[in-house]
Amino acid sequence: MTTLQYCNICNQKLGEPIYVSPRNISVTSNADIVAIPTQVYFCETCGHLETPPFDDLESYYDTGYNILTDSDDEDQLYQSIDGQKAFRADFQLETLLKKQTISPNAKILDFGSGKGTTLRRLALRRPDIAYSLFDVSQAYVPFWEKFATPDQWATYTLPETWDENFDLVISFYVLEHVAELQESVKNVARVLKPGGVFYFIVPNVYANTGDFVVVDHVNHFSEESLHYLLERSQLSVIEIDKTTHDSAFIVTAQKTPPSAYRVVESSRLSQQVNQISEYWLNVIEQVQAFETKHPDKPVAIYGAGFYGTYIATCLTNLSRVRCFIDQNPYKQNEKILDIPVIAPKDLPEDIETIYVGLNPRKAVATIDAISVWSERHHSYFFL
Ligand SMILES: [Zn+2]
Repeated sequence: MTTLQYCNICNQKLGEPIYVSPRNISVTSNADIVAIPTQVYFCETCGHLETPPFDDLESYYDTGYNILTDSDDEDQLYQSIDGQKAFRADFQLETLLKKQTISPNAKILDFGSGKGTTLRRLALRRPDIAYSLFDVSQAYVPFWEKFATPDQWATYTLPETWDENFDLVISFYVLEHVAELQESVKNVARVLKPGGVFYFIVPNVYANTGDFVVVDHVNHFSEESLHYLLERSQLSVIEIDKTTHDSAFIVTAQKTPPSAYRVVESSRLSQQVNQISEYWLNVIEQVQAFETKHPDKPVAIYGAGFYGTYIATCLTNLSRVRCFIDQNPYKQNEKILDIPVIAPKDLPEDIETIYVGLNPRKAVATIDAISVWSERHHSYFFL
């Protein structure tokens, strides 16, 4: 088993993991199933949670990951309140525009851009900006070519010609994947102009507990560990917003030497992370106890993402799962584990038992809001 010896953020020696999955099955952020255990370590020095990168992580992102490259428009559903769907790239753009004043002709880098969907939409709204793209894969170049020229992008390393070049570096759901975290953030600081701003979004495991067991999320940040990381890279934290997005930190930092280092209070965090660990150690038993109580009936799993796939891996009899249900039209008509994904309105009448694979904090409200099911009498399993 791969172990983690030193903290990704503060380099302190780590002790034993606070969580080791009870079996050698894990699920990635992309809802792929991999045959390795998930381990999570807690660093008491900086308040960071971390998971060992699995073998060949770099080549996974280079060639295997390629999230959402099926089409230009394919996107993850950020939230779905019946009938009102908001996609992640739009939400990210609106939030960015609300929170940041982008000066005329600003130079902006999308760090870990993927397809660069949010940046592309920003450039349509703000034709004055000069934008660049960066990722650790060549796979996105065909998308970039549609709205940028080769001098506007780089892959694998940030070129020296970009040093002190950007007013703003944006980064959406990237740093949680990065094993060489200090190096990456120092590189971001390097390409920022003095006084420039680093604006990024990472998952908040304390608001979305599933992030704890996402096996390819090397980093699970806390406010404490974000401060530690940024301040040691000579970036001052302007704001860590944990309310605008219901399961992520939206971080704004500026390239100015921090006036002081924030003191880490790890005892409160330590209690919280041990509770999360306990929760995930018990999930499999809970899923299987519900399964035992509802024998011999066809079932469905609501949620075609990480949580739904995770539940599927816990079931003893997957053949009873007739379908996955998801409101994201891009996921409908796909298959997970060879099982079709359908829209809520297409759920066959004879399926009354449903496992809900959603962030537990939002699951009940999301299911209650599905109007086409209001007359039905389902038995639900909630995480
Ligand atoms: Zn640490």
